[in-house]
Amino acid sequence: MHFNILTIFPEMFPGTLSGGVVGRALDNNIWSYNIINIRDFAINNYGSVDDEQFGGGAGMVMRPDVLGPAIDSVKKRGKIIYFSPRGPQLNQKMVHEFAESRNKTYTLLCGRYEGIDQRIIDEYDIMELSIGDYILSGGEIAAQVFIDSCVRVHDNVLGGGDDSTANESFEIGGLEWPLYTRPSVWRGRNVPEVLLSGHHGNIERWRKQQSDEITRQRRPDLIQGKKK
Ligand code: SAH
Repeated sequence: MHFNILTIFPEMFPGTLSGGVVGRALDNNIWSYNIINIRDFAINNYGSVDDEQFGGGAGMVMRPDVLGPAIDSVKKRGKIIYFSPRGPQLNQKMVHEFAESRNKTYTLLCGRYEGIDQRIIDEYDIMELSIGDYILSGGEIAAQVFIDSCVRVHDNVLGGGDDSTANESFEIGGLEWPLYTRPSVWRGRNVPEVLLSGHHGNIERWRKQQSDEITRQRRPDLIQGKKK
């Protein structure tokens, strides 16, 4: 996978993407990125990339005559995504679609201020994508969420065999069961007996029942799509 990242804060990358399994995948060239510094396309020597809103109102808007040339400078763009609270909300099903798409190059536009001029979205047939119902101060964190989640589902990234992603929340159509590791007794708290029994059938039944119960309590909206 390759990501072209348009931002006014190049120093924010790779940021969180440099650590853990996704960082290792970057070192191993499973994915790559390059930064386009939007400031390089500023309209003046002061580095201006934004201006007041037509129609009035607080907050600045990123100018199309800055973003246009910045986007044009990217040769292989693939799908262009603008992170925005107005877009459909990213979920694990969409993550798989992005990660498994035939063209695995994405151009990620990180907004700042109030956002970007609408004409950029129209001109380049840009997809808007939200990471949740809250407002961030910029699209950089959203871009890292997007890259992390897409890279993570790649076959060679987790290295725990097929199961390590297949058994996770959302992949199982619900939420994960409770997890336990050593020691088997901690501050007087025991690990559920069944997990120590070595009886795979019982363990699987217990996990499914726990997962169902937690999903029913916390996210009943997921139950309709539950596979198992
Ligand atoms: N005025 C906008 C919010 C601007 S926040 C509105 O009311 O919808 C500034 C930038 O942060 C946005 O341009 C976008 O790129 C990013 N951003 C903020 N919240 C986001 C979210 N929930 N998902 C994805 N990107 C977001």
